[in-house]
Amino acid sequence: MLSLDPFAISTAITGAHLLEATGMIVGFCALLFVGSIILPGKRVTGPDAEGGERIYTMNGLALFIAIIFIVAVAEVFDWFSLTTLHTHFVALLVMMNVLAFMFTAWLYFFGPRSPSAPKGFLRGYFEGIHAGPVWFGIDVKLYSYRPSLIGLALFNASFAVVQYKEIGELTLAMTLYQAFTFLYVMNYFHFEEGMIHTWDIISERFGWMLVWGDYVLVPFFYCLPAWWLLYSPVEITPMAATAIGVLFAFGFWLFRGANQQKHSFKRNPNIRIWGKPARTLDGRLLISGFWGIGRHLNYTGEICVYIAFTLTTGFVSWVPFLLPLWLASLLFHRSTRDEHRCRAKYGELWSRYSQKARFSMVPFFH
Ligand code: NDP
Repeated sequence: MLSLDPFAISTAITGAHLLEATGMIVGFCALLFVGSIILPGKRVTGPDAEGGERIYTMNGLALFIAIIFIVAVAEVFDWFSLTTLHTHFVALLVMMNVLAFMFTAWLYFFGPRSPSAPKGFLRGYFEGIHAGPVWFGIDVKLYSYRPSLIGLALFNASFAVVQYKEIGELTLAMTLYQAFTFLYVMNYFHFEEGMIHTWDIISERFGWMLVWGDYVLVPFFYCLPAWWLLYSPVEITPMAATAIGVLFAFGFWLFRGANQQKHSFKRNPNIRIWGKPARTLDGRLLISGFWGIGRHLNYTGEICVYIAFTLTTGFVSWVPFLLPLWLASLLFHRSTRDEHRCRAKYGELWSRYSQKARFSMVPFFH
């Protein structure tokens, strides 16, 4: 059992902690931004949220690998330890909040404003007034997923490093959690091109909701199960580990498979899915593969993946289960919003689609 008191360590906030946290955040975001500009990547044309098109540079995977390399070298040579993310967790959380609110205010007062921007300060601040500024050729909205998910990966890794330094090994549960979450983040960057057809890119403006979600919620909240893996470790049996692995593999297959099928279809409607030519409604809506079964099986798959993350903590507490619960409510709500959007966009075609794929996320339920 760990000798450290989690709250004493990570909730200690001094002026020095806050200053160091600010430096770490600014340095990290600047490093990722410069990396996004200079690293090579495929240039892809995709939609923006104003009904136009823009060019996105797909170098997230190269960036992620570069950061892993830099952090590993720094850890080995003792230049910087990932345990700092753990000791400074609360200071980082406080400063990230401050900076996210300030960044959103800057976007509102000094950023570009599109003609369709909402009137009034509160809605404008919350929802944003622009589809996403482009700085030095980088789409800031797509860029923001990088500090978000690489930040999450580093926080997750920091819990493993602390455990290893304390007990000299990783528990089976921690190993599983690390493997699952690493694959999840890696998959995001491997499939980054698919992001340009997602709701956030095609429908949302860049305001507080996205800024806070990307910079605060995802990195700081999505590592919740790791706290329990570190401070209340459970012994999970090989049988339980296998069952959790099967759930993860099933969820990942649904989540990645459905996203991949839709993305491939958007780029080329004449693709083959599951060995047969893709079937469509008027060439606009895919009704083959996962999209012919349910209208949002990608959401269902991702929820299974998050349940698998959390099950590695056993049932030692209900608190880590807030993570899959949160994601399920977010995605249920989002699927309802997306249905409205698609009904308005596709009209009668969407009703025909709903006859074909009768449920959205869960058969007989939603
Ligand atoms: P989707 O990728 O499901 O995109 C929905 C859009 O896809 C629709 O608006 C429509 O847009 C198009 N579409 C819907 N049905 C079809 C069809 N049958 N054929 C062709 N096009 C169709 O949703 P999101 O963008 O919300 O999510 C993307 C991924 O991100 C998901 O896997 C989700 O789980 C994940 N996510 C994760 C979150 C997290 O916090 N971990 C939060 C939010 C999302 P169009 O106008 O292009 O046709």
